[in-house]
Amino acid sequence: MTLPPARIVLGDNNVWALRLADAADGRGWLLIDAGVEADRDAEVDAWAMALEQARAHGFGPRDVRAVIVTHEHIDHAALAYRWATEGARIVVGREGIEAVVAGRAGLDAQRALRLHEYERHGCPADVLERLATWRGARGAIWEPCPRDAIDAAEEYETWALADGHTLRLIAAPGHTPGNLVAWCEDERALFSGDTLLPTTIPTPGLHFPGAVTGNLGAPRWPSLPPFLRSVAAVRALAPAVVYPGHGEVMHDPAVYLDRFEVHHERRAQQVRRHLAAHGASTAFEVTRALFARLPAERLGQAMTEVIGHFDLLLERGEATARVEDDGRTRLLLAEAHPNPK
Ligand SMILES: [Zn+2]
Repeated sequence: MTLPPARIVLGDNNVWALRLADAADGRGWLLIDAGVEADRDAEVDAWAMALEQARAHGFGPRDVRAVIVTHEHIDHAALAYRWATEGARIVVGREGIEAVVAGRAGLDAQRALRLHEYERHGCPADVLERLATWRGARGAIWEPCPRDAIDAAEEYETWALADGHTLRLIAAPGHTPGNLVAWCEDERALFSGDTLLPTTIPTPGLHFPGAVTGNLGAPRWPSLPPFLRSVAAVRALAPAVVYPGHGEVMHDPAVYLDRFEVHHERRAQQVRRHLAAHGASTAFEVTRALFARLPAERLGQAMTEVIGHFDLLLERGEATARVEDDGRTRLLLAEAHPNPK
C-alpha cells in the first residue's frame, strides 16, 4: 500500500513516507518533509526517533531516494542535512533553496529584518524588546543542508508511486516563498505542509528572502496575497483527504478550506472598518485595536497577519500607504472604499 502514507511523528511535526514504484537503485522511499531537530538543550535525539519509526515502517535512511521539503522552515527542513548525508536528494521549491542551505543563520538574518519591519509598522520599543527576546532565546537547531544535495522542485514534476499512483509537486507560495504542496490525483490526496492545518490557521509570515544571502536591505516579500491564491488553487483541486505538516489527517478538507477563507474575509473586513473609522493607521494600531488582550510576546504574529492584510488592500488598490515624518508606515483607505459595510 502506498496510500495512506506511513507517518513519522516528531513532536507535533509529521514526516510522510511513500513507497516509490521503481526501487532499481535500492532506494524505494520518498519522504514529504525532512523533520525537525530537537532544541539544543532538549534531551531527545530527533534523528534517532525518526530512524526508529522509519525502521518500524520497513525502511532505513539509505532507502530514502528523496525528501520533498514542503517549505523552508526549521520544523520541516532541519533534518534535511541528515537525510542528505545518507544519500537522499533534497527537493526544495526554488525560492526556498537559499534558506535550506543557510539553515539557522538565514533564520537569524531574517529575524533582524522582521523586527525592523514591526518597528516601521508602528511597534513601540518596549514591545519590540519583548519580541526580540521571546524567540531569540530559543535554541532550535537548523544545520545547513549542502547545496549539492538539493534539487529545485521543478526538476521533479511527478513521482511514480507504488500501486500505480502518481504524485505531482505544485508550487503554492504563501506560507513561505518556496512553499510546495504534493498532490496525488487518483486518490485526491493532498500533502499540504503548512498551507492547510487542522488545528490552526497558518500564518502568512514576514519574509525577506534576500536577507538569507546577506542582503540586509532586502525588500519584504508580501505573502498573504499569494497565500490566498494558493489556498484557492488547493480548493480547486477538490481534495478528498489532506495529510498536513502538523496534526491529524483531514478527511473533510472543505471544512478547513472554508475556515481559512472565512477567517481572512473577516479579518479583511475588520482591518477595513478600523481604517474607515480611524483614518490613516499603522499596523500596530490596528493590531492593538483588534487584539486588545493579546500579551506583548504574541503581538508579532498578530501584527504579521495585519501587515498581510495591508498587503492585500494595497494589491487590490483599496488603500494607499504613506511613510510619515516619524518613519512609520500608515495605511489609508482609497477614496472609492471609504465606508465598508
Ligand atoms: Zn510547520
